[in-house]
Order: sequence, then structure tokens, then C-alpha cells
Amino acid sequence: MNDSGNGKRILLLEIRSLKKYFPIEKGFFRKVVGNIKAVDGVNLSIKEGESLGLVGESGCGKTTLGRCILRAIEPTEGSIFFRLTDDKMVDLTSLGKKSLRAMRRYAQMIFQDPYSSLDPRMTVLDIIGEPLFVNNIAKGKELEDRVRELVKAVGLNVKHLKRYPHAFSGGQRQRIGIARALATGPKFIVADEPVSALDVSVQAEMLNLMQDLQEQFHLTYLFISHDLSVIEHISDRVAVMYVGKLMEMAETEELFLNPKNPYTEALLSALPKPDPDLKMERIILRGETPNPASPPSGCYFHTRCKYAKEICRRREPAWEEVTPEHFSACHFAKELQLTGVS
Ligand code: SF4
Repeated sequence: MNDSGNGKRILLLEIRSLKKYFPIEKGFFRKVVGNIKAVDGVNLSIKEGESLGLVGESGCGKTTLGRCILRAIEPTEGSIFFRLTDDKMVDLTSLGKKSLRAMRRYAQMIFQDPYSSLDPRMTVLDIIGEPLFVNNIAKGKELEDRVRELVKAVGLNVKHLKRYPHAFSGGQRQRIGIARALATGPKFIVADEPVSALDVSVQAEMLNLMQDLQEQFHLTYLFISHDLSVIEHISDRVAVMYVGKLMEMAETEELFLNPKNPYTEALLSALPKPDPDLKMERIILRGETPNPASPPSGCYFHTRCKYAKEICRRREPAWEEVTPEHFSACHFAKELQLTGVS
């Protein structure tokens, strides 16, 4: 873990007012008639060595946010400051193609689907070795040795380097994907639903592996998932997203025990309870998730929030620090007594 000398972790990434709008075009001249607001003014920071869990319902914009951070897709507006060295942060949104390619060594992605993310015509050696070759990191014998080390680190058998992806199980393929992401020696990894396509019995194994690798390779994770139990397992802090906006962010234990946003409370209420005597009523969210092309006025959650008042329909709540390091976007974050889980 990196530290600023006073016990505080230093910032690796700082995102300011990030937006990603996808234009809706119509007619022969493809006139822009609106926008799908997939990411709508997100501010967040990630410290070196931590895992920030990003959670929300499917379609809330979390994958788009992860891809924008790596500039796999171009953000519409905003800044993404990334620490390249101890005293240098660069705004990734200002980088040209060449600098961006050089930066990609340090920031990689692990994908959700271990079946479609690996080229079926390439061997394990080629898949993991490709980023080493393309980035001029290693060639020939040195490349092969490096691939062997990575294969061992992710718990695969080095005898299987010449095999093709179809010869492996889902969990093993995800290990290959992780080894490929580690090949260039990244500092930061966006893991997009890395366990959701896996059998439940393999999920915990994979999360433990990711935690071990984080320590071994000094990694920082943005861990994206729709599943709060998975997020709880791996995250130091959690950010909750709804229709392109952040609703809440805090340390994991604090967010689970003392949610400060009604949307988080509703998500927590749906978690399976370890103790059947624990009585926490599940909050059923009525209605559909709003369409990000025409979100509601005021607080986007007001159409489904059981605490909504007139002001929620009129005015968008500010993103505020409710208690130290605990942020929420809710007009009543300080007054509401919301129920968490222990
Ligand atoms: Fe609910 Fe209003 Fe808070 Fe939005 S601002 S979460 S509608 S109480």
C-alpha cells in the first residue's frame, strides 16, 4: 500500500464531473434529437492500493463509467486525473493516441465474460504474451518465462501453455484473463463483473485470488458488480450508482451499517440474511428504473423513493459529505434514520 508519509493513502485516480452521453439520432440526416445520459456528472477518487466497489442495477452506467476511465470509450465531458509517478498526475482526457497507448500499460481491464473475452484461436501463451510483445516489454525466451510466472501467479498449470481457451473451465478462463491483464505490470485494474458469469462455487475462489494478487502486485481495483455480497467481500469503499449518477459513497462497513441514501437502503434490504431471525423488511422498489434518455426532474430516484417529498421532484440533491468520508446525494441524508445490515 502506498502512503503519503502521514498514514494516509495517496490518490491514484480523481474523476471530476465526468459525463458520457450517447446521442440519439433520427432521420436521413441523423439529426441529434436527444442523449442517453449513461454517466451524468460523476465525481470520485480512488486511493492507491484500495478496492473501490461500484454497485448498482443493470444499466445504471457503471460499465460505461469503467470504460470511460480507461478511455476505452471517449467521455463527453469532465476530467480523469491518473497518477503516473509519485509527483505526477495526468489528465487522461487530454492525452493523444500515442501517450494514451503508453499509459494503458498501467491501467487494464478484466472482463465479465471469460468465454468471449479470449480469442479461441490463440494459445494461453499467445494470449498472455501478446500484451508483453505489443508493448515491447519482452520477447522470445524472456516473454515465455514471464508468461510462466503469471500463469503460476493465477493458479494455472504451466504445462497448459500450448492449450486453447476451449480446453478450460469458466473459472480457469477467467484466470487466463486476469494473467493477461497483469502482463504489462498495471497499477490499476477495472474489473467489470469479473465473477458474475461464474458458478457460485467458483466465485469465492476467484475473489480470494484477486485479493491475493492485489497484495502481491500492489494493485488498485475499481470493482464493478450488481451484487452487493460480492462488493462487500472485496471492497474497502463502496460507491452506489443510479441512472448515471452516484447516490452514495463510503467505507464498506460504514455504508452497510449506516446507509445515508434511500436507494442504498433498498439495495441492502434485498441482501440474503445470514440469520433467519434477523427481521429486515425488504423494500420493494416500485416502478421501472427511469430511462436515462429522459430522466425524471429533481432527484432521479424520486419516482421510486418511499421518502420522497415535494422538493425531491423539483431540485436535484447536492453530493455532500454527510459524515467524514461518507457522501450522499439526498436532500434528507442527515435526517433520515435508514436501516442497514450488520
Ligand atoms: Fe429520496 Fe428525496 Fe432523498 Fe431522492 S432526495 S433519495 S427522492 S428522499
